[in-house]
Amino acid sequence: MKNEALLYLIIPCYNEEEVLEITTNALNQKMKKLIKDKKISKNSKILYIDDGSKDNTWNLITKIHENNKLFGGIKLSRNRGHQNALLAGLMTAKKYADITISMDADLQDDIDVIDKMLEEYNAGAEIVYGVRSSRQKDTFFKKITAEGFYKFMHLMGVEVVFNHADCRLMSKIALEGLEQFDEVNLFLRGIVPQIGYKTAIAYYERNERIAGESKYPLKKMLKFAIEGITSFSVVPLRIITSTGFIMALFSFIILIYTLIVKLVGNAVSGWTFIVTSIWLVAGIQMISLGIIGEYIGKVYGETKRRPKYIIEKEII
Ligand code: UDP
Ligand code: MG
Repeated sequence: MKNEALLYLIIPCYNEEEVLEITTNALNQKMKKLIKDKKISKNSKILYIDDGSKDNTWNLITKIHENNKLFGGIKLSRNRGHQNALLAGLMTAKKYADITISMDADLQDDIDVIDKMLEEYNAGAEIVYGVRSSRQKDTFFKKITAEGFYKFMHLMGVEVVFNHADCRLMSKIALEGLEQFDEVNLFLRGIVPQIGYKTAIAYYERNERIAGESKYPLKKMLKFAIEGITSFSVVPLRIITSTGFIMALFSFIILIYTLIVKLVGNAVSGWTFIVTSIWLVAGIQMISLGIIGEYIGKVYGETKRRPKYIIEKEII
């Protein structure tokens, strides 16, 4: 019987003291209504994952849990980043829940998407991707960089769902699939489509952050994009090889050119050209080495097999 599935909402929180109260009220209402309408089991819960916050977040979570057992919390031993916090929540919830839905603490993802996701789950989907139908409320800069991110990923051969971030429903079967992916370099958007099973999409409007500021500044976003590409694609390495071939061909043209110049008897005139070439070639070599280094770094990280997160406390 799929109708009254036991749902766990997974909400990673990093320094979210400003939004936690509003989020808690909204989610409390939503979950109560879903339980009342018999859309989910009455044992369903909302799980906050404190990703090593430096502010009052964990204290708030403890208080919320004491007042209302619909809410639970996990405290990570330190800040491990959104992806790891999310995984910690999913893997903990897997023990209790039939399905999980992950969302951001700032409620930028419209919570009514939960109903649509449940419908898709009842129709047989094991994974439901929340996809943003518009980004009108995002700043221009965020929209350009975020959409550029998906396009670039696609170009680099990484299979990701366009405009889908980490708001998604996963069933127990899908979570068991996810557990088998052992990689340390986590890029869930790339891993989840690899799991397989029947999937569906639920569209929603993306809102503005209710309070506090984004924990994803440009620097983190770039790091995340590099993480995604180098974890899922060898296209950059192939580009290096192709560039090498093109340059080798080009040097042949240069050879002919220099021979002609020599024959004409005007040898010194090539100076500017030589100096430019040295810098260009050195630059390309440095970039290529950097890209290769990036991949070697990945391998290094994976071989250490360090834990992706450590749970300090669990209140469920
Ligand atoms: N987050 C986290 N660990 C981090 C950074 C962010 O758990 O190191 C959480 C954050 O609390 C939020 C979600 O990840 O619930 C998305 O972050 P944010 O809203 O700041 O990103 P944006 O929506 O601006 O991309
Ligand atoms: Mg946000």
